[in-house]
Amino acid sequence: MRKKYIRKGKCNACGRCCQEIYIKHAKGIIKEEKEYNRLRKLHWFYSYLKIVAKTEDGLVFACTKLDPETKKCTAYKNRALLCKLYPQEEIFMMGGVISENCGYKFVPIESFEEVLSKVKRKK
Ligand code: SF4
Ligand code: SF4
Repeated sequence: MRKKYIRKGKCNACGRCCQEIYIKHAKGIIKEEKEYNRLRKLHWFYSYLKIVAKTEDGLVFACTKLDPETKKCTAYKNRALLCKLYPQEEIFMMGGVISENCGYKFVPIESFEEVLSKVKRKK
């Protein structure tokens, strides 16, 4: 499937990934409120978000569906596919990173040649 990494670990429900979000769209990371307002009309998920900061990279969003006390998603059954699949390798390909304390990590998948060479060395 042309993947380069395998995802390991599990979610520890820290909620960080729902609090510091950059949105990358066709023309890059969303930097202005009017770009975000346009996106809100394209997918309902964007209406869950609110702008919490602005950095030199772009606008930073937090999801209003995250319960600040429990760090749980209050829209869990109706969350977007993006949330269900998070985190995916594509995040790195788009220049993103996962949170520092995230329970997941991505490990490079060994190529056939690497595995073969390890097997040969063992003989
Ligand atoms: S909908 Fe739920 S899982 Fe998705 S970003 Fe918001 S709080 Fe997180
Ligand atoms: S940052 Fe990682 S561990 Fe924390 S809620 Fe998101 S997926 Fe789970």
